[in-house]
Amino acid sequence: MNQFEKIQQLIGNFTPFFPTEKVQLEDAYNRVLQEDVVADLNMPPFNKSAMDGYACRLEDIANELEVLEVINAGKIASAKIGANQCVKIMTGAAVPPECDCVFMVEDAEELSENKVRCTNPKTKKNICYLGEDYKKGDVLLKKGTLINVPQMAVLAGAGYAEMLVSKRPRVTVIATGSELVPPSETPKPGQIRNSNSSQVITQLRKMNLEIVSELMLVDDYKLLTESFNKALESSDFVVFTGGASVGDFDFIPEILKEQGFKIYWDHTGIKPGNPMTFSEKDGKFVFGLSGNPVSSFVQFELIAKPVICKLLGANYAPLRIKAPMNFTYQRKRANRLAIIPVVINENGAISEIPFHGSAHINALAFANALLEVPLGVSTIQTDEFAYVRPL
Ligand code: AMP
Ligand code: MG
Repeated sequence: MNQFEKIQQLIGNFTPFFPTEKVQLEDAYNRVLQEDVVADLNMPPFNKSAMDGYACRLEDIANELEVLEVINAGKIASAKIGANQCVKIMTGAAVPPECDCVFMVEDAEELSENKVRCTNPKTKKNICYLGEDYKKGDVLLKKGTLINVPQMAVLAGAGYAEMLVSKRPRVTVIATGSELVPPSETPKPGQIRNSNSSQVITQLRKMNLEIVSELMLVDDYKLLTESFNKALESSDFVVFTGGASVGDFDFIPEILKEQGFKIYWDHTGIKPGNPMTFSEKDGKFVFGLSGNPVSSFVQFELIAKPVICKLLGANYAPLRIKAPMNFTYQRKRANRLAIIPVVINENGAISEIPFHGSAHINALAFANALLEVPLGVSTIQTDEFAYVRPL
């Protein structure tokens, strides 16, 4: 088993950790459901007209029909519909029990004020039948579902005005590096702008985590230790970028050890982004991501995201699809899983974009997917199939 597979196995064995709370439906988007959503009704709750038209008995479809009344959505027919009779009916209205067919307005010839004839004897029935979408008691959404747009409609339809979800974890993001200046400044010689904080904070926000604090700190052991301990007081997660490697000023792994954190892994087996720690102590979780922005991006997407989902009790499986290459990929060393920013073109083929490695964050701005080059594979030929992860 390679290192990335080992990490995936470790993540799979983590136990969900976060407490739950009730939220109102309007606040449910992007939260993790912590109860099954069960139907309290059949859907549709009655035989429902799928069209604006006329409801009648199919056996009368060839005959001239008497129109008894107009039934709009929300109304019930007041009289029984007999032979050669019909009601004018609107989409969404209850089809009277005597009727087994709705023919469309477009298939109707109005002969007089209250006489109509169907011009299409082969009409479909145009009825959505009671309970055909789901039955009372069906589980509509499972505990662990991430509530996205369609889930909001399902919750509303099932009468869940409030529901149990995971609490939003609080996070402090700490960018480390004595060379960093904020985006608003022009770097002096030897300095660079901090691009990681904006990136990782957005990745976390997209997952609906609460950013409680954002720091940019120089590589000073004492300062980093103090700030870390302070961050732990108000945060469930601390995310460091930079200082994760083995350079003289890469203090993060050392600080974690000194503070008694259990380090689950200290490298990923992925290129870019090999040095990365994940650690835990007393229910506080720390990611030590790489300083290079593409590395930290990849580490977040491939590792931090599944960890956070698992801890929140969220069912998460990243979308990976096999697609044909429209270029030949080659590398010299195949000792890690390589992740390469690419574009899936309109024909579904994987196309190359300029990419210079872990610092080249601007390449990602043009990518719509990440290509996976497995460990041990040094060439993928044009027209061969490879896995991509849409971004
Ligand atoms: P490190 O992981 O601290 O050794 O940093 C690796 C590389 O990433 C160095 O070239 C750093 O200057 C760069 N880097 C570190 N932090 C950031 C950041 N917040 N934004 C952009 N680049 C960074
Ligand atoms: Mg550094």
